[in-house]
Amino acid sequence: MSSLSRRQFIGAAGGAAAALGLAACGGSGSSTGAAGSASDGGFTKDPYTIATDTVFAPFEYTDDDGNFVGIDVDLLAAIAKDQGFNYDLQSLGFDAALSAVQSGQADGMIAGMSITDERKEIFDFSDPYYDSYVCAAAVDGSEYTDLDSLKGHKVAVKTGTQSAAWAESIKDEYQLELTYFDESSLMYQDTTTGNSVACFEDYPIMAYGITQGNGFKIIATDEENFSSPYGFAVLKGKVPELLAAFNAGLKSLKDSGEYDTIVKKYTEA
Ligand code: GLN
Repeated sequence: MSSLSRRQFIGAAGGAAAALGLAACGGSGSSTGAAGSASDGGFTKDPYTIATDTVFAPFEYTDDDGNFVGIDVDLLAAIAKDQGFNYDLQSLGFDAALSAVQSGQADGMIAGMSITDERKEIFDFSDPYYDSYVCAAAVDGSEYTDLDSLKGHKVAVKTGTQSAAWAESIKDEYQLELTYFDESSLMYQDTTTGNSVACFEDYPIMAYGITQGNGFKIIATDEENFSSPYGFAVLKGKVPELLAAFNAGLKSLKDSGEYDTIVKKYTEA
C-alpha cells in the first residue's frame, strides 16, 4: 500500500491543463463561481482525490518542461471545469492507484484504466472514453518477432494490468517467465537492457512510444480477448455524484469538440 505522497498535483499541473484546473477552483459544491455548464453537482468533497499512473504516455506523463500532462490529465481538468468540482491529482502508479481507490485513500482514478467485468465487481466505471487492446513488443531489430520466438524466455509485465493478464493467460503455452514491474518505463528498460526479451503493454501506449522513438516494435496483439475501453473509476457505490459529473462532462466535451482537440493534441504532434 502506498501513501499518497509520491507526486501531487493540485487541480492539474502544466500548460493548458493548469489553466483549466485553476479555472475550476472556486466552483466546488455549488455553482457559485463555476463557469460554463457547471451543475450544482451535489459534490461532497473539496477537493476530490484522484489517482493516476506515473508514466503512461500519451495519457499521463511528465513532459520535457517538467509538467505532468496527457490525455487523462487534460480530460479531467476540462471535465472538472465544465462540471464545477475541484480535485487533487495524485500520480501514484497504476497498481498503487487501484489500491488507493480500494482503500479509500483516493476517491477515483483516471489512468488509462480498462473497463473489465472483473473490475466491475469492485469499481463503478464512467462511460468509456478511449478504445484499447493489448500487445507484446520487443526491441526493434531483435530476433524476437512473434509469440513463438519468445518461447522459454523472460518477458516483462506491469503489475495489475490487462496486458499482464494476457501474458499470464498465454504463459504456459509459450513457456514465458514473467517479471513484474510497477512502471511501464521500468518494464521497457528491462527489455532494452536485454534482461527480458519482450514486454507486454497496451497497444495505444506502445504505438505512441514507437512514434516517439522508443526503439521497440510490436510483435503480437490480442484484440479478440483483451479489447476494452478506458474509463474513469470510483469504488463501487461511492461518490456517485463524481461519476455522474465525469459522464456529464465527458458528454459535453464530446459535443463541443474539446474531447477531439485534447486527443489530437497528444496523438498528432
Ligand atoms: N489499460 C491497462 C489496464 O487497465 C493498463 C493501465 C495502465 O498501465 N495505466 O490494465
